[in-house]
Amino acid sequence: MQEVVDFDDDDRTGLSENRDAGVPDEVLEAVRTLIRWAGDDPEREGLVDTPGRVARAWREYTFGYAEDPKAHLARTFEEVGGYDEIVLLRDIPFQSHCEHHMAPIIGRVHIAYLPKDRVVGISKLARVALGYARRLQVQERLTAEIADAIQEGLDPRGVAVVVEATHACMSARGVQTQGVTMTTSRMMGVFRDDERSRKEVLTLMKIGNPD
Ligand SMILES: [Zn+2]
Repeated sequence: MQEVVDFDDDDRTGLSENRDAGVPDEVLEAVRTLIRWAGDDPEREGLVDTPGRVARAWREYTFGYAEDPKAHLARTFEEVGGYDEIVLLRDIPFQSHCEHHMAPIIGRVHIAYLPKDRVVGISKLARVALGYARRLQVQERLTAEIADAIQEGLDPRGVAVVVEATHACMSARGVQTQGVTMTTSRMMGVFRDDERSRKEVLTLMKIGNPD
């Protein structure tokens, strides 16, 4: 098992207390309470700066609340040069947290759409996915929200979103099932209605047909 050691620079420069500035006391106290509940002493040396780090980490884990992911699709290009084939972004890595345990969900998103008359900068699709991932989520809703945003923003002939992820709330607690991947998908337009189009997009995504 890999151990991740977090040596923030601020630990060595003594700036860590300043960096707690802006984190409300009640948030710091909530983390201390959780540490006590787990059975440890939040005042011991190794844990004294932990509440601030946890608070800042949770700001990053949940930055999606601070934005409207649909806004990334506001700028589209209508000049597509007659392109009428599938646009696919595969293997977008993401981290989310399940809303039931606040435990990590780690996986990849594949996004495809069949343009009608508009395309979007490809990095924007990834930004949409991350804007919804960086919230407390369930995988099914994450999948649907990404697809709905693209449908609404681009009005394409079809949208296909597939999410493959492992859930720490399954692997690290409860049934402790390691290595189980959950796959969810949302097919809209031609990818829902037309069997051939659906097969084509799933083949491009290499779903059920890994390398
Ligand atoms: Zn969970």
